[in-house]
Amino acid sequence: TSELMKGKRGLIMGLANDKSIAWGIAKACADAGAELAFSYQGDALKKRVDPLAASVGSDIVLPCDVGDEASIDALFESLQERWGKLDFIVHAIGFSDKNELRGRYVDTSRSNFLTSMDISVYSFTAVVNRAEKMMNPGGSCLTLTYYGAEKVMPHYNVMGVAKAALEASVRYLAEDLGKDNIRVNAISAGTIKTLAASGIGDFRLIMKWNEYNSPLRRTVTQEEVGKSALYLLSDLGSAVTGEVHHVDAGYHVVGMKAVDAPDI
Ligand code: NAD
Repeated sequence: TSELMKGKRGLIMGLANDKSIAWGIAKACADAGAELAFSYQGDALKKRVDPLAASVGSDIVLPCDVGDEASIDALFESLQERWGKLDFIVHAIGFSDKNELRGRYVDTSRSNFLTSMDISVYSFTAVVNRAEKMMNPGGSCLTLTYYGAEKVMPHYNVMGVAKAALEASVRYLAEDLGKDNIRVNAISAGTIKTLAASGIGDFRLIMKWNEYNSPLRRTVTQEEVGKSALYLLSDLGSAVTGEVHHVDAGYHVVGMKAVDAPDI
């Protein structure tokens, strides 16, 4: 336990259960002394999020559906009343119809394209827009992305297109908020078995492929994403903004892995 985040207050969005990437990040921040608030989507998740929040000393658990502008406003109004100021936010939210996270990208429907872009891309901009008004200088905003934004990955389809747009928004937001000394970054996480990930076709095979082919010969844990998030959310990352930081056991650098092949 360090005191890296002592005196800092942060909002964690996207906690569904203890497998969520948001939870790995929340624990890392809490261990480093941060004070946390959580938002959750829908009443069904509240009973899961309440005890997790309590276990890191937080009693600020607020509803927010990021598809609804009024819901985002209500969240930040509540935070304004409780805290006044804010030091960091974590946006660990994505959504697409899982029927379209298999098969061909070319078959994506217009309605799911728009929903995926709305919930997985625009929501980060909408949240940063509210957060900016409450943020102390030195503030930090973080979202989560995936390699499927850069290269074609099986079944990732419309989410890959959405993540590419999310990564571009990180760069534009970084420029907008940089003048106020607020940083905006993304972590491109390796595959982790979460609720959202289980909606992706052949996810187990993709996990295995990552294990065989990443330089570290393994996948990553939510704790490891948490540690890297701590760097970007804290003063350790004070000169880093607009960045998409890969926490993926190095998978993204490999074009082709060396194998002990017999003479070809
Ligand atoms: P998760 O299912 O634990 O979290 C996804 C969260 O999104 C849930 O808490 C869900 O409630 C929330 N959400 C969906 N629609 C919402 C809405 N309209 N309003 C508010 N919240 C909403 O899964 P996760 O894997 O921890 O996902 C977190 C982020 O990490 C996502 O952006 C995901 O794309 C990204 N990511 C995941 C992986 C992976 O392999 N798991 C890899 C790279 C990036």
